[in-house]
Amino acid sequence: MARRLLQLAELPVTELKGVGDTKAGSLAKLNIRSVLDMLTYYPRRYIDRTNQAKLADLEVGEEATVLVQVVKSTSRRTRNGKSMVTTDVTDGTGRLQVTFFNQPFRERQLAAGLDVVLFGRLELFQGQRKMTNPVVDLIGDRTAKIVPVYPQSEKAGVMSWDVARLCEETLKRAGEFADPLDTSIRDRLELMDRTAAFRGIHSPESMREAAMARRRLAFDELLRVQVELVHRKREMERTAVGIAHNVGVSGGAGAGGPLVARFHECLPYELTAAQKRAIGEITEDLAKGHPMHRLLQGDVGSGKTVVAVSALLAAVQGGHQGALMAPTEVLAEQHHLGIRHLLEGFTVPDTDGGNLFGGAGLDRPLRVVLLTNRTPAADRRRILADLASGSVDIAIGTHALISEGIEFGSLGVVVIDEQHRFGVEQRAALRDKGAGEAIPDVLVMTATPIPRTAAMTVYGDLDVSVLDELPPGRTPIVTRWAKSELDEIEVWQQVRDEVAAGRQAYVVCPLIDESEKLEVRSAQETFDELSAGELSDLRVGLLHGRLPAAEKAEVMESFRRCDLDVLVATTVIEVGVDVPNATVMVILDATRFGIAQLHQLRGRVGRGSAKSWCWLVGEPTNGDGEARLEALVRSTDGFELAEVDLDLRGEGTLMGERQKGQNDLKLASLRRDREWVVKAREVAMEILDADPDLAEHELLAEEVELFLGGEDVDFLLKS
Ligand code: ADP
Ligand code: MG
Repeated sequence: MARRLLQLAELPVTELKGVGDTKAGSLAKLNIRSVLDMLTYYPRRYIDRTNQAKLADLEVGEEATVLVQVVKSTSRRTRNGKSMVTTDVTDGTGRLQVTFFNQPFRERQLAAGLDVVLFGRLELFQGQRKMTNPVVDLIGDRTAKIVPVYPQSEKAGVMSWDVARLCEETLKRAGEFADPLDTSIRDRLELMDRTAAFRGIHSPESMREAAMARRRLAFDELLRVQVELVHRKREMERTAVGIAHNVGVSGGAGAGGPLVARFHECLPYELTAAQKRAIGEITEDLAKGHPMHRLLQGDVGSGKTVVAVSALLAAVQGGHQGALMAPTEVLAEQHHLGIRHLLEGFTVPDTDGGNLFGGAGLDRPLRVVLLTNRTPAADRRRILADLASGSVDIAIGTHALISEGIEFGSLGVVVIDEQHRFGVEQRAALRDKGAGEAIPDVLVMTATPIPRTAAMTVYGDLDVSVLDELPPGRTPIVTRWAKSELDEIEVWQQVRDEVAAGRQAYVVCPLIDESEKLEVRSAQETFDELSAGELSDLRVGLLHGRLPAAEKAEVMESFRRCDLDVLVATTVIEVGVDVPNATVMVILDATRFGIAQLHQLRGRVGRGSAKSWCWLVGEPTNGDGEARLEALVRSTDGFELAEVDLDLRGEGTLMGERQKGQNDLKLASLRRDREWVVKAREVAMEILDADPDLAEHELLAEEVELFLGGEDVDFLLKS
């Protein structure tokens, strides 16, 4: 009978020949406990023995991989006490001397007669051909044409060839593998079958076979993730009861219903095509009987607020309430100001008590309230009562708004600004806030663009709308990198010039990850230095996370009123702060920030029609920091930057620490395998559309449970 992976998961490695308790202990250090772990411990790379450079053909200065035999190794200490191992090697065509500094173990490791693969640069030293500290791969006495190289651990005492032998035995004993993927899908995607794939990855006959094997096994990893995510999404659509909002005629003119249409008519500008599309998608969701769970991605300044308000109004016009939650109080206050302004003069039918005369009801003003920790106790009590009775239409606050046991009369739509993840717990917290058992619709907004394929994995159970277009008439922000002290003089000169022209500027202080306290201190120092030095003639304010909330609000307010010229701040201003008169952003020590963060910070300027500047101050230090700043200078397109970011950082950071864990994606890479993420999602949908509970795909269901079951499912769903 064909072998299932679950069976191998249940067999301890000690089932394999030559694995006793000691060996099992060593393997456990590499997280190999079951035979399945062994089978899915994949080679790091391969050495193609048919295609190695010959020592005789190597040119000095050339980098190459050579397959050689050790003649002898000796060790001594250099004059300054460093360990130095010298190893003579040959490949029959020539000889080479290899020197290892500070690797004393090489003397024992590289015993005479051993076959090894070296990767390094050929040097000429005192007339002799040499390599210094090359990469060493031990391949043992393996005779295959293609030798797999496994991640090994000398500390744990597990060498590449041990792993190779154990994998070979596993393959031999396992025999044929059951394949969860139908032949038709395999053929369509040109994927090899399971048995061939496991063989091909561990003992390929050619590099091409190894690549095809990797492709199949990586696809399996991606498919399992997508099956889990799509299944969750479908489950929710099927079982969760939402509110079917009255949105009027969807699709046509006035989509979204009368109140929303009126709102759009009153805007001083035309909606962008992207805004219209997003509002259309949201409107369709709102009309449905199951709760919306949608992510709105839109670059800084793309106009997410109008989309959010449209969704809130859709709830209000059907007699429900809307809530908007921001990550900080400063932002909540700002949203409150902005949205109150947008909705000035709007009215809604007064349902309680107003309808004295029957017939057409009286109208009352649409009511928007702000609820934060700074709301005075008396106001707070009144607001809470009005939220419960339904006489407040739109509530704006921090993320705590829904979790603090606040009662809503009938919460219809929730918008969450700048939060990537809206987890299962929060969704549960919403359940008793809607009408009856219904769960309110949720729109999550983010300005951190995530490449589409990554979004499919990280946010695989959400629908995604994208604002990929900025409102017309924006002047792009000019970004420059100030690398030297001379450049810095120009930075401060420009700040003074802009202030003289009636504009304002931000200065963001160095980021200090280790402690908020240090960060505050550095902000204070920056503030002191600038106000005594370069910016001594200007009105400079300071904003950081440790200021009391009231003081924070006051500083923000003075800056907004233009009572301050320059705001020196920590990253508390990162998201959402909106002062259109500010035209210069100076980011100190910019190499310490990530791309997404720099892009967010830069987005604080360029919000009006005047030309804006962003200065990245910092000496070029490490390669990545430099590449990040160069990317920012080159591009203002958040999506392009997100791709660069993904390339620089790898996807591990995107999916969090958990990703590196044992049962996660071992082969597949969200970066390299972009097209396969899309294909996996399509296949997952195809399978689940035809077979919603995977009744006909028992093996696939079993594997999803095996690899992603239990707590491991949730790592994907946390930010
Ligand atoms: P963000 O997506 O960063 O939250 P906002 O919603 O704050 O962006 O919008 C940024 C600015 O663009 C605001 O001043 C807003 O009034 C303006 N805006 C939004 N939509 C349009 C549009 N369609 N045409 C012109 N200006 C717009
Ligand atoms: Mg915003």
